[in-house]
Amino acid sequence: MHAPRHENESRPEVIYLDNNATTRVAPEVFEAMVPFLTEYYGNPSSAYRFGKLVEGHLKEAREKVAALLGCTPKEIIFTSCGTESDNMAIWSALQTSGKKHVVTTQVEHSAIMNQTEQLERMGFGVTRLPVQADGTLSLSEVENAIRDDTGVVSIMWANNETGVLFPVEEIASLCKKKGVLFHTDAVQTPGKIDLSHVAKSDIDLLSLSGHKLHAPKGVGVLYAKRRTKIVPYVIGGGQERGKRGGTENVASIIGLGRAAELSLERLADEQGRVRVLRDRFEDALLERLPDLYINGKRDQRLPNTSNIAFDFVEAEAILLDLDLLGICCSSGSACTTGSLDPSHVLVAMGLTPARARGCVRFSFGHYNSEAHIDYALKVIPPIIEKRRAMSPLSPEHRDNFAYNVEAAREKEEKLMAQTMAAINE
Ligand code: PLP
Repeated sequence: MHAPRHENESRPEVIYLDNNATTRVAPEVFEAMVPFLTEYYGNPSSAYRFGKLVEGHLKEAREKVAALLGCTPKEIIFTSCGTESDNMAIWSALQTSGKKHVVTTQVEHSAIMNQTEQLERMGFGVTRLPVQADGTLSLSEVENAIRDDTGVVSIMWANNETGVLFPVEEIASLCKKKGVLFHTDAVQTPGKIDLSHVAKSDIDLLSLSGHKLHAPKGVGVLYAKRRTKIVPYVIGGGQERGKRGGTENVASIIGLGRAAELSLERLADEQGRVRVLRDRFEDALLERLPDLYINGKRDQRLPNTSNIAFDFVEAEAILLDLDLLGICCSSGSACTTGSLDPSHVLVAMGLTPARARGCVRFSFGHYNSEAHIDYALKVIPPIIEKRRAMSPLSPEHRDNFAYNVEAAREKEEKLMAQTMAAINE
């Protein structure tokens, strides 16, 4: 099958180490979707058999997603993305509680950060809890932040930039005791940690996004625990039992159902093989390069994520060099790429802006192999050494106010040639 291309466009060969930004649609997922993009195009809300048939498949997909969380299908609401699920959870909780205050953290995804900023402009109160240097959160700070007028506590399960995990089940129990709804953005977790006990926990609301678990972009889930009142955020028809208007994105939901099944099957791979790849990658870099720090403790992170500070270099420069060599990775989240500000997550962890600007996130996944790690380990050290040798931030240049741009450029060309020779060896 040939994808339509723009003139002169060719797909670069890539080693994809950015699985927290998005994931490849699994071939099994694609296969499950095709009939719903071709022959089975009936509207699941239609009364005739051609519609009912599609409705039946939607029901099955809902059951598969429910199995991922150990909940009932009625607790699953399909949305258009993780962002919508996050926005809907907070909005609905504030509407149903009638309260005016939100507790969240300083390290949430922009879906929550920007929504809560908007809420502040509308007159709501927001408390954003700080994190420790290792990215973790203190339970007592959560407890102290809850006020009589708190309508919802929203704290992510795993951080998309660092992979650091928060004890959301404990936080949920604390919220329950205080009579406050608890939402968690769990977009980064499926297939990486076991979610099958969610329904048994005190979590009231939880967001997922299809494209982080090998389903397509543009489909999401809001889990709403039984008896949690929901006010629709997208207002329209009676779809999703009146909780989310709009004709369902049938093919993508079918794909998400298949992806949920696969992520359950592949959990052991992610927690075993992928974790080993990630750890080998980190150990080798720590051994080969000085002035390198890993953000977040290994046993408190998702098994697939490495966020690495390369001192004295700008992450953007490293990303450009790696891109030319076919490696995809990122600094910060894909949603904030292009921003000149250092990552709000890393700054909240107490990194200086200079160190935060030198941080690169590598996130591994099911389709990564030993060979990908070998290649990354071959190309990254010479690139860092080259960038450091020409960086005005390096100790060797830092105090030299007469830093000579021309000389630096010449040096860069020489070093680039050496780097390429080392890589091609
Ligand atoms: N929350 C987290 C933690 C994420 O990593 C992302 C995506 O990067 C989102 C929410 C938003 O999901 P979506 O891209 O489906 O809107």
